[in-house]
Amino acid sequence: MSGWDSIIAPGASKDIAVQTQPHTGSYYAATQNDIINFAPLQGEQRADVCVIGAGFTGISTALHLAERGYNVHVVEANRVGWGASGRNGGQMIGGISGEQAIAKAHGRDVEELFGELRWAGHAIIRERVQTYGIRCDLKAGYVDVAIRPRHLRAIEADYERLQRQGFPHEVRILSQQETQDTLGTREYIGALLNMGNGHLHPLNLCVGEARAAQSLGSTIYEQSPVINIERGARARVVTAQGAVTADAVILAGNAYHALEKKLRGILFPVNSFIIATEPLSEQTVASINPRDLAVCDPNFVIEYFRLSADKRLLFGGRCNYFGNDPEQIKLQLRPKMTRVYPQLANTRIDYAWGGTIGVPVNRVPQFGRLANNIFYCQGYSGHGVNVTHLAGRIMADAVAGTVEQFDLFANVKPIVVPGAHRFSKPMVALAIMYYRIKDRL
Ligand SMILES: Cc1cc2nc3c(=O)[nH]c(=O)nc-3n(C[C@H](O)[C@H](O)[C@H](O)COP(=O)(O)OP(=O)(O)OC[C@H]3O[C@@H](n4cnc5c(N)ncnc54)[C@H](O)[C@@H]3O)c2cc1C
Repeated sequence: MSGWDSIIAPGASKDIAVQTQPHTGSYYAATQNDIINFAPLQGEQRADVCVIGAGFTGISTALHLAERGYNVHVVEANRVGWGASGRNGGQMIGGISGEQAIAKAHGRDVEELFGELRWAGHAIIRERVQTYGIRCDLKAGYVDVAIRPRHLRAIEADYERLQRQGFPHEVRILSQQETQDTLGTREYIGALLNMGNGHLHPLNLCVGEARAAQSLGSTIYEQSPVINIERGARARVVTAQGAVTADAVILAGNAYHALEKKLRGILFPVNSFIIATEPLSEQTVASINPRDLAVCDPNFVIEYFRLSADKRLLFGGRCNYFGNDPEQIKLQLRPKMTRVYPQLANTRIDYAWGGTIGVPVNRVPQFGRLANNIFYCQGYSGHGVNVTHLAGRIMADAVAGTVEQFDLFANVKPIVVPGAHRFSKPMVALAIMYYRIKDRL
């Protein structure tokens, strides 16, 4: 178990295999520009708010609260950004998954209900990058590509909606020829260019936000798996070596959460994987993505890619695989990458990694309470970079007593799937098979 510091937590539920782990072997971990090392939680501590989990949800919430003057303590099992937040495609995708279901549940119209909320997370990210000087390779520009005529129709509908809403950034439909010229591949028959979306280095963003929260007085503990939450007028968040007593607690463990069975039963943990090539030559970059755009395909079993700041192709997608062996991930993803870019057949792959996304059955992000003063939010499907940042603001509002936006989500009942966590692998494999067939129709 080299590099793993295993803790069998006293008092922990049998379901919690609590181990603290270093970052996965991702391109992001290899290029983290600020190596932080927060001490584990020790002894008895006191806070206004205790946040469990230091991904985007937890750190974004902590920063929003710290900016409003709260004394926040964040308790992370592993490292800041260790989960999906430090491993993802880095694509800033607009919109909130499950919008239609939310609007239907409230008997309201999607456009009227969400409006600019659909891009609120992007605005928060941009503002923080500027305010705190976070170096995370933030770039504007994103394309939704079309593979089939029905995707073109969806793109046109999106375009018209954005026009109606007076979207303040450049949005343009690209013809088949323009798409080929822009992306150097014949895979797609059209695209929607959106300069309001973009891409970034997610781990460096998460760490930068953690630093910002720390600079405003927040305390962050790493390598501190929470093993119990004692309920009460003040809740007590317990780890193997310490505890934080707080007026409010926020659970932000998402798909990695192992503490509260109720939260695990309403979320499917779905794995996604990414490979990063060696840095590409200027000539190759000019032929495959001269405008440095993030690219996402429209399938349910999606593929997504973009260039890193040092011009590697970061190519992500699903694999028929549940482990984390980089060689297996390379084997499975390389053919997908070379289907899109045959010219990269001989390109070396330097990094391969995977992570787990929290996917609710109805796709609606899950906000709620386990007790009056214990809040949670999780399950943004593949839109987490944007929506976690909005979620942080909504959670901070909820702690302060403003629950209008919190209730927008909390009032949509999550669909409980018995055994969702325990039997997730066969269930997810079946679902993926079903959606693969659907994607091909
Ligand atoms: C491979 C991959 C690619 C993706 N690509 C994109 C993309 O391009 N664009 C996009 O918008 N979204 C993408 N996503 C989704 C996005 O990354 C997530 O929705 C988002 O990061 C979720 O953030 P989070 O903070 O809620 O959860 P996480 O980042 O998973 O953080 C949860 C944290 O909680 C901690 N934790 C759990 N239990 C405990 C405990 N008991 N005690 C203490 N700490 C605990 C974990 O250690 C972890 O650090 C991708 C996800 C993956 C895995």
